Amino acid sequence: MPTRDVPPHLAQAIEKRSGESGMGPLQDPGQRKLAGLRRQRVVILFDIEQGELAASTDNPWTQRIALLTEAMTGVADDLVAANTIEPGPYHAVPETPIAIGAIDSGDAASVEFAVGDQRFLYSEDQDWAERGHQIARSELVRRTGDVDALLPGDTPADLRDDLRAHLSDSLFVMASDLRDRTLDGDPMPTNPSLADHAAPCPVCGNWTDWRGTCQACARRNARLMELKREEGRLLDERAREAQERRRLVEGMPLARKRLRDVEADLARLG
Ligand SMILES: [Zn+2]
Repeated sequence: MPTRDVPPHLAQAIEKRSGESGMGPLQDPGQRKLAGLRRQRVVILFDIEQGELAASTDNPWTQRIALLTEAMTGVADDLVAANTIEPGPYHAVPETPIAIGAIDSGDAASVEFAVGDQRFLYSEDQDWAERGHQIARSELVRRTGDVDALLPGDTPADLRDDLRAHLSDSLFVMASDLRDRTLDGDPMPTNPSLADHAAPCPVCGNWTDWRGTCQACARRNARLMELKREEGRLLDERAREAQERRRLVEGMPLARKRLRDVEADLARLG
């Protein structure tokens, strides 16, 4: 017989009953057997009670299954919405050449480059690096260079903020990439240009960054993953509820037989 968790109130009742029927080790074997049978009877009665509840039309398992099904419908709707690709903002930038300058990949790394005549300097926080014992590298921070100057003159007014933010992020990505290439002894990119920071995403048309990452698609994919995980969790939970209910209902004939057996034993001994 598989071990079952008995609810606290039952466990207490069992405790009390066994306390009434004697003093543990000093009990005589007949009394001990009787106490054991009484405990079994309480547990079996609980199983039958749960089985009858599970077999009834309005039971907690069916109610929870209905709630979980409702939650799954919500997640399915969210998945449809998350799958919808919103066409991103886009405005092309010119192929202004990028000249890579001095790169120091040491403890306090610094990266210099120029986009056309606009010079950029990125460096890690000196204080941070000197604190030492830091395993993670500190991030590069832009010290000089004006991203605004890189926005094409014909950029629509409503896209300027988005494009500025995108280029700012992408230049940081490139600065980090140049630092890491130097650190790893990898070759520098050939003929980089500003256009490498704003190629259109083949999926949504938004700007992609220096590494070809589209933030809009990355966010959408992260959301999809999250929703799929949630969908899986709800499915599992629903299956568990259904399984538990079935187990309780199907276990009733056996529980009733055990109850008859225990009660016969009790009648004989009592
Ligand atoms: Zn995209």
